[in-house]
Amino acid sequence: MPARRPRPHTPRSGLRAARRAQARATLTRAKAHLDDLALYPQPVRIDRVRVLVVGWLFRLPWFGRFDGYASWNLILLRSAELMSDDRLVCHELCHVWQMQHRPLRMPLSYLRVGYARNPYEAQARRAASDMR
Ligand SMILES: [Zn+2]
Repeated sequence: MPARRPRPHTPRSGLRAARRAQARATLTRAKAHLDDLALYPQPVRIDRVRVLVVGWLFRLPWFGRFDGYASWNLILLRSAELMSDDRLVCHELCHVWQMQHRPLRMPLSYLRVGYARNPYEAQARRAASDMR
């Protein structure tokens, strides 16, 4: 029998750790930016915020128009490259911040006034607009 060749080194766990570190670095920059804006009484808390890449979600009809989506302490992104997109992550983190202060009113506002003219959307856009 031929000697088994060593498997090529595919450090998937290393890749995941690197992505986590990248997401954490982007979150930290976004937090610093939002802290300066002081839109709410308490600074945004990022210790429990998770950033996940879920490409399949963004192929669904409702999500198709977005690159990112925030739901309480979860930020969902269309692709791994977006983990270093400061403007997008800042926009989504602003939504996390909004939900930390208005956990019901903010999400319900999307039912009340929709997406396009939602004041929380406008606030998140403004908050992220001067990120690179
Ligand atoms: Zn938004």
